[in-house]
Amino acid sequence: MAHVTDYIRTIPDFPHEGILFRDVTTLFADRDGLRLAIEGLVEACEGLQIDTVAGLEARGFILGGALADRLGTGFVPIRKKGKLPGRTIGQSYKLEYGEAEVELHDDALHQGQKVLLVDDLLATGGTAEAGIKLIERLGAEVVACAFIIDLKDLGGRKLLEGLGHRVEALCA
Ligand code: 5GP
Repeated sequence: MAHVTDYIRTIPDFPHEGILFRDVTTLFADRDGLRLAIEGLVEACEGLQIDTVAGLEARGFILGGALADRLGTGFVPIRKKGKLPGRTIGQSYKLEYGEAEVELHDDALHQGQKVLLVDDLLATGGTAEAGIKLIERLGAEVVACAFIIDLKDLGGRKLLEGLGHRVEALCA
């Protein structure tokens, strides 16, 4: 039986020399691959009460939109700094070199709302942690963080689980 890993390719030296980049565009481009990914994530979230899906820019938007449709919820984008048109809250986080910031509209979520956070890949967990902080600052609750790939050696799962969050991933 086919597995999501069959559709993901690894590109060496992107975006820097020495990095093995997991390219999910080949997964998204294939109708069977995309369906496997979305169905896998829907299954991973079975039994959870989810009021809305939040996706991290940019590949989290593709997965998050499809998942929200399948789960019967709306979708909320968490974007890189300066992209959202309305009033935002921001959260900075550390990158390998330097810092980045993600933003959320300050009226995108409300108190007590149960949120599924989605991205394509979990590495150090810094991006997801920043997303969680934004969601929680609006009084909403992250019920799970879902990814296609969990790069286990980079510690993201440990970080997020250490913060008390449920982590779901379809492959390593
Ligand atoms: P982290 O913050 O967990 O270290 O890195 C995860 C973020 O970087 C995610 O938003 C993810 O999309 C992106 N990312 C890092 N490495 C890769 C990779 O090899 N492939 C893909 N598709 N995304 C990556």
